[in-house]
Amino acid sequence: MMNRRELLTTTAAFGLLAAGRAFGAAAPYDLVIKGGYVIDPASGVNAVRDVAVAGGKIAAVAATIEAGGAQTVNAAGKYVIPGMIDIHSHAGDTQGGPAMNLEDGITGYVDAGSRGADKIDDVIAVVKSGPQLGRILINIARTGLLPGGELQDINNADVALARDTIAKHRDVIAGIKARLSKNVAGNNDVEALRRAKEAAAPSGVPVMIHIGQSLSPLSQVMALMKKGDIVTHLFAPPPEAIVDDAGKILPSVIEAQQRGVWFDMGHGRGGHFRWDTTEKILAAGFLPDTLSTDWTPQGRVAQFVDLPTVMSKLMYLGMSLEQVVACVTCNAARVFEAFREKGSLKVGSPADISLLELRGGGFDFLDNYNEKRTGKQKLFPAGTVLAGKWIPRPA
Ligand SMILES: [Zn+2]
Repeated sequence: MMNRRELLTTTAAFGLLAAGRAFGAAAPYDLVIKGGYVIDPASGVNAVRDVAVAGGKIAAVAATIEAGGAQTVNAAGKYVIPGMIDIHSHAGDTQGGPAMNLEDGITGYVDAGSRGADKIDDVIAVVKSGPQLGRILINIARTGLLPGGELQDINNADVALARDTIAKHRDVIAGIKARLSKNVAGNNDVEALRRAKEAAAPSGVPVMIHIGQSLSPLSQVMALMKKGDIVTHLFAPPPEAIVDDAGKILPSVIEAQQRGVWFDMGHGRGGHFRWDTTEKILAAGFLPDTLSTDWTPQGRVAQFVDLPTVMSKLMYLGMSLEQVVACVTCNAARVFEAFREKGSLKVGSPADISLLELRGGGFDFLDNYNEKRTGKQKLFPAGTVLAGKWIPRPA
């Protein structure tokens, strides 16, 4: 009789044979991640498991997997989660940005509005040459991000031009971004969003809006948001935060969430994340759908805005490890169509895997206002599998 280990191995091997692999191959797997603690919210796995990879796909997840001649990675003491997806990043605006993100365990990202129609080719070139899957939100302002605010002149929001650019680059453009803060859009916030929605209509792509400190009431903005659209900077402090002074989430925000609008963090560096507002929102029971960095090379250093650190900050505020993992894996994968196959370690899924280490000690965490809090634990990237290939964490 076969013992459990042999049975599992045999079953997995048969699975691969059925998928058309040649008989007599030395090992049925290319890579086995051994002994890590797997958290895969999409399939409900929350236990020590081995994970086997073959042909760029997840081939098996089981208590023990015989590696045979496959490459093995010892993940004992580490967490093994689906490859992390950062849906609000500016990695596409920096040469080498995607590769830097891969070092942090990011196997998919969305460049959220760095560029508009005028210079979209620059960001497309970076995204297409990066190692992992990236998608682009085109800024509704043709200029892209401007330090003085790209929507101060509403003529920058050229609907026809944005539409044409999306149609031309639909393979990489996954949506539209509109920044609605007073310092970006002045009085034009609602009109800018209206134009973004108009530009999105023919292709049906979602619109991501950047909220917080807008001139128009947030309820007016929320009224234009449809199922599948995304609100980023959900923890932004007042004016026009999603929570009122009494700690109640605005009814227009609850209604938007109920009709399927996503709420994303977008950590960023200025005006988007303050401890007290975030605590109020979480205390009201309103949880983010996704955690994201609003990544830039400067932010990665200045406030340690890498995704594992962002996750650690929310754990400090009381979210569980399973919750923050869901935010950056299965939840993030659902927001944009290009990532829907990802975000899970189910057999047959693309073999994108992030390893994380949860270290104990004293860790200083900053909000966007440089107020320091000290947490007792912090997540660190500990290696990545991208499309079945092991990429060790650089020393
Ligand atoms: Zn951003």
